[in-house]
Amino acid sequence: MLNHAHSPSQTAALKTLSRVFGYDQFRGQQAEVIETAVQGKNALVLMPTGGGKSVCYQIPALLRDGVGIVVSPLLALMKDQVDTLCELGVRAQFLNSSLSLQDQRQVEQDLQNGKLDLLYVAPERLLNANFLNLLDQAPLALFAIDEAHCVSQWGHDFRPEYQQLGLLAQRYPHIPRMALTATADERTRADIIQVLGLQNAPTFLSSFDRPNIRYTITEKDNGRKQLLDFIQQQPEGSAGIVYCLSRKRVEETAEFLQSKGLPALAYHAGLPQAERIRVQEEFLYEEGRIVCATVAFGMGIDKPNVRFVAHLDLPKSLEGYYQETGRAGRDGLPSEAWMAYGLGDVVSVRRMLAMSDAPPEVKRIEAGKLDALLAYCETASCRRQVLLTYFSEFGTQPCGNCDICSNPPQTWNATVAAQKALSAAIRTGNRFGAAYLVDVLLGTETDKIKQFGHHELPTFGVGQDLSEPAWRNVFRQLVALGYLLPDVEGYGGLVAGEKARDLLKGKYTLELRELALPKAKAAKKDRAIGKASDLPIEAQRRFDALRALRLSFAQAQKVPPYIIFNDATLRDIAVIDPSHLGELKLISGVGEQKLARYGQAFLDRLAEIRALPADQTPDYAEPTLEKVDTVTATLELVNRGLNRAQIAEHRGLAEDTIGSHLLKLYQANEVTKHEILFLEPDELKEIQAAAKELKMKAKQTASKALKEALNHKYGYADMNVALWLW
Ligand SMILES: [Zn+2]
Repeated sequence: MLNHAHSPSQTAALKTLSRVFGYDQFRGQQAEVIETAVQGKNALVLMPTGGGKSVCYQIPALLRDGVGIVVSPLLALMKDQVDTLCELGVRAQFLNSSLSLQDQRQVEQDLQNGKLDLLYVAPERLLNANFLNLLDQAPLALFAIDEAHCVSQWGHDFRPEYQQLGLLAQRYPHIPRMALTATADERTRADIIQVLGLQNAPTFLSSFDRPNIRYTITEKDNGRKQLLDFIQQQPEGSAGIVYCLSRKRVEETAEFLQSKGLPALAYHAGLPQAERIRVQEEFLYEEGRIVCATVAFGMGIDKPNVRFVAHLDLPKSLEGYYQETGRAGRDGLPSEAWMAYGLGDVVSVRRMLAMSDAPPEVKRIEAGKLDALLAYCETASCRRQVLLTYFSEFGTQPCGNCDICSNPPQTWNATVAAQKALSAAIRTGNRFGAAYLVDVLLGTETDKIKQFGHHELPTFGVGQDLSEPAWRNVFRQLVALGYLLPDVEGYGGLVAGEKARDLLKGKYTLELRELALPKAKAAKKDRAIGKASDLPIEAQRRFDALRALRLSFAQAQKVPPYIIFNDATLRDIAVIDPSHLGELKLISGVGEQKLARYGQAFLDRLAEIRALPADQTPDYAEPTLEKVDTVTATLELVNRGLNRAQIAEHRGLAEDTIGSHLLKLYQANEVTKHEILFLEPDELKEIQAAAKELKMKAKQTASKALKEALNHKYGYADMNVALWLW
C-alpha cells in the first residue's frame, strides 16, 4: 500500500474503480500502471492470468480524454470484455469480422462522434488504411496492446500482424502505448520492447504465482476412476476443464463422465466448428459444465469461475502446464489443478522424444523441457516453489497449498533397489519393458521368462523385498530421472542410460519417493449446487437462491452469469446479507450501474429468504438449464430420420459412440430394433457364434477379445447390438 498522500490522478483512479467497478482498492501493481498511463507514458505490463490486467488500461481510458483503443487477437475475449464493460455502464464496443457491415458502420460512427470510451479491435483491422484514417481524426486516450507476446516468433502464439504494430509509435508518438502479456520469458519480453518501441518505458513485472490454485499430482493406476473421484470431491456445480492428449481420449472421457451423470462435454479440433462453438458457449453461459478437451480448448476463454483443471495425460511442457492450469480460478477463489500420472505416461513421452526426427538442436531443447516437467512431477518439495523457480522467481517459501506441502512424501535410500532394477534391464539385454523386468525381479516364472531362460539369471527373484506396485514406482522414477530410457526402435524396451553407470558402481546414493499409500477416501463433499465449499449453511442457502436469480438475469440478457456478478461478489452478498442498497453498495464488485440495475432484485430475494423459517428450503427452482444430454441429442436426430452414420457425421462423434446411444435408446423403448440394427442376419449369427465360443452371455458388453476373435471385422456398436439381441 502506498504510504504517501495520493496524487490527484490516483484519487481519481480510485474513485473510478469504486464507482464503476465497485472495488475499493487496487491489487498488486495496478495503481502504479494506471498512474503511468494517465500521465501519458508508455508501459510494459507482465501480469499472470487473473491478475487484473484489463483494469490497467480501462481506467486510464476512462480518465483520459478520448477513446482507448485495445488491440486483441481473440474474438471471443473481445466480446466477453465488451459485455462486461457494458454491464458496468462503460461505453465499449468491438470491431471485428464477426459484426455485420451495418454494425461496423455504426461503431465507426460512434468512434467519430466521440461516443466511445473503449474500442476493441483485431490487429488486422487496426492496420487497415481506412481505419487508420478514422483514428487520425478521433481523440485518442491510449493504445493497449493485449496478448503482446504475439509479436514474438519465440512465443507460442506468433501473429505476423502484431509485428506491424510498430507503426503506432511512428504514427501516434504522443499517444501512450501499453503492452500487456501473461508470458514473461525474457526473449519474448525483448521482442515486445523492440517491436512496439517501448525502449524507455517502465516494465511492471508481477509475481506469476497463483496462490489460490492448489496443485496436486497423483500416481495413476486407473486414471478415469481417479478423475471421477476427484471431480466428485469438488463442490457440485463446479465448472472444470479436463485435458487429454488425443481426440479419442477426449471423447471416451466425456462419455465416461456423462455415464456417471456429470454434465461433461467434448471439445477437440476434429469437431465441426458449429459444435465447438456450441460447447464453448454452453461452458460460458451455463453453470458447472465440465469440458473434456485437447489443448485446442482454452485460448480466449475468459471464464473466471473455472474451479478445476485436470490433466489425464502429461502436458507438453511446464510452460504448457502452467498456462493450462492457469485457466482455473481467475476470480481468485480456491481452485484445483489436478493431474494423474504414471509409469506408462513417462515411458511414452520419453519414447516420443527418442523417436522424434527433429534436428538435434531442437531435440536438446525438448529434452530439457521434458526433464523439467518430469522433475516437477516427481519432486519431493513444494510444487509451487518448483514452478516459480522454473519461471525465474526465486526465494519463495513452501506454499502450504499443494499436495507435497500438505502431505510430504517420505523418501528412502533406493540405491540398492535401483541397482537391482538397472541390472535386471542390462542382464536381459536392454530390450524388455517394466512389466517384464518387475516379473524378473519378483521371481515370477512366466512362460515368456522361461522361454528366454531369464529364470536362471542371478537377478531373478532378487526383488522380493518390494511389492509389485513398489517396483513400478521405482521404475517410473528411474525413467523420469533418465536412468532408464526407452529403446529408440520403439519396441517398448527399457535401456540403462549413461547416467546408470555411476549409480551401478555405487558412486553415489539415490533417494526416491516412497510409494504413496492409498489414503482413506476423503469424505465426499456435499455436491449441492453452487457450494463454494466453505460457506455456513445459512449463507449457502442464500447463495443458492442468489445464484438462481443471477442465472435468470444472465439468460434474459444473453450474457454469461459471471458478468452479472462474479462468484466472489455473490458469496460476499450471501455472507453479509445486506438489507438496504447502501449496505449492498459497500460490497466488492457492486458498482453504481449494477446497483441501479440489480440491487433491488437481489435485496428482495434476500428479504424473502429472511422471512422463511430456518428449516425451510427456499422454493426457488433453478431456472431450467438446457440439459447436456448427449443421448437425447442423438434421439432428436433419429426422429429427424438420420441413421447411425449420418448422426455420427452430423455430431462429429464416432459411429461406435452413436451406436451406444442408440442401444440405450432401444433399451428405453425410444427407438425401434430397425433403427439400431445394421447387420445382415448371417453377420448377426457370426458375432453371436464367436461370443458363444468365448463363453460370453447374451446382453454382455462386447470385449476386446471378441473383437479380435472376429478379426476386427465389426465395430463395438454392432457387436453390442448383436449381443443384446442374442
Ligand atoms: Zn507447496
